[in-house]
Amino acid sequence: MSVIYDYHCHSTASDGTLSPTELVEAAAAAGVQQLALTDHDTLAGLPEAAAAARACGLSLLPGIEVSVAWSRREVHIVGLGMDIADPGLVALVAAQQQARVRRAETIGKRLDKAAGLAGSYGRAAALAGTDAPGRPWFARMLVAEGKVRDEEHAFNRFLKAGQSAYVSTPWIEMAEAVAVLRAAGGVAVVAHPVRYGLTRRKLRQLLTDFCEAGGQALEVAMPRLNEAQQALLRECLRDFPLHASGGSDFHTPAQKWLTLGRLPTLPEGAQPVAELLRPGAALAA
Ligand code: MN
Ligand code: MN
Ligand code: MN
Repeated sequence: MSVIYDYHCHSTASDGTLSPTELVEAAAAAGVQQLALTDHDTLAGLPEAAAAARACGLSLLPGIEVSVAWSRREVHIVGLGMDIADPGLVALVAAQQQARVRRAETIGKRLDKAAGLAGSYGRAAALAGTDAPGRPWFARMLVAEGKVRDEEHAFNRFLKAGQSAYVSTPWIEMAEAVAVLRAAGGVAVVAHPVRYGLTRRKLRQLLTDFCEAGGQALEVAMPRLNEAQQALLRECLRDFPLHASGGSDFHTPAQKWLTLGRLPTLPEGAQPVAELLRPGAALAA
């Protein structure tokens, strides 16, 4: 019998809408037995999530989703099973948070002009409850202020690449992030490999560099993959020395098509990423 797991999801510690406790309770209600909370560039939700997991009787893995730079692009690396007190990891999180705060302040300044809304940064920060609100929080803020119809409109009109309030961020280099995650006892996973708009050739280049840097796993089990994407990911697992991970990338119950822990089974012959976790990695077991 295989474990029902979900190794990629978000809480209010980053851009999700459920608190860590609510998220763990939702996962337990959905039948998830092992959950990794992987908020963007922060570990802040993990202590609360661990307490909730103990109360619900599910296993919680420490996780994070790190935004990194690779080949002049932004790629996301999920870390699983790290020691969350590791000084190198704590320093990485602090540097990424600082980059996020600066980016958010710049987005705010641009929105003040572009959307004609004074104090955009402060409004988004207040809504998010953090100094480093990500773009989804700016989108929610613009909806709340009546500047756009919905969040998608906010992205299309202001926030996505090419629009007036888009700001790129100087993230840590991929190889450096992988090294930090490994040194902290964690496993590095390429998140949602089909979502970067990479050609097959570019994706293979990414995985070559990732493996060279010490990366060990690829997220292959995720909702709503089409046949061609599934075939591409099977090919990558076959051709690279990578274990297989999976996660929903759940952010909010408003994503009605997503359920925590409801993932396609791993391709035949795939080695589950759980095999790479160090003993005692779970914060709640
Ligand atoms: Mn997100
Ligand atoms: Mn991501
Ligand atoms: Mn994510």
